[in-house]
Amino acid sequence: MTGNITLTMIKPLAVKQGFAGPILARINDAGFRIIAMKYMRLSEAQAKAFYDVHRERPFYQDLVKSMTSGPIVAAILEKENAVEAYRALIGPTDPAKAPEGSIRRQFGVSIEANAVHGSDSDENAIIESNFFFSQLERFID
Ligand code: ATP
Ligand code: MG
Repeated sequence: MTGNITLTMIKPLAVKQGFAGPILARINDAGFRIIAMKYMRLSEAQAKAFYDVHRERPFYQDLVKSMTSGPIVAAILEKENAVEAYRALIGPTDPAKAPEGSIRRQFGVSIEANAVHGSDSDENAIIESNFFFSQLERFID
């Protein structure tokens, strides 16, 4: 359903630090339903493709390097107004500027290693969900 899903990744450093479980608990407690999930390491080509919109930005190479440094957890989350609701839960890009109680404030360590990704529009939520998951991998009532 358009407007009701968003795509998240728990980034490699957060997984390495043991925060995948606590972050999924925060997501669950905030009322999101996980309709697809996988644990995988992105290849360089996959990370480059996922972040293609940022290819001209100065941080692109470092971002690709950090996103391929270990496994991530990718998930499709469902909730009314999911994109906006999830971005409110995670806070802004820089954990230092994220409000108390937000996921990035609690689990992020830097603007690059900011614990999680969240889609920025309904259109990108669909594109990013299709990047990771086939229809067979989704559990929809
Ligand atoms: P995301 O897309 O991961 O949810 P975002 O939408 O808050 O984060 P974007 O502007 O889309 O931020 O940037 C994508 C990712 O690139 C950020 O999550 C962050 O890891 C990294 N990034 C963004 N700006 C910088 C920067 N100035 N320096 C280093 N890394 C950055
Ligand atoms: Mg973004």
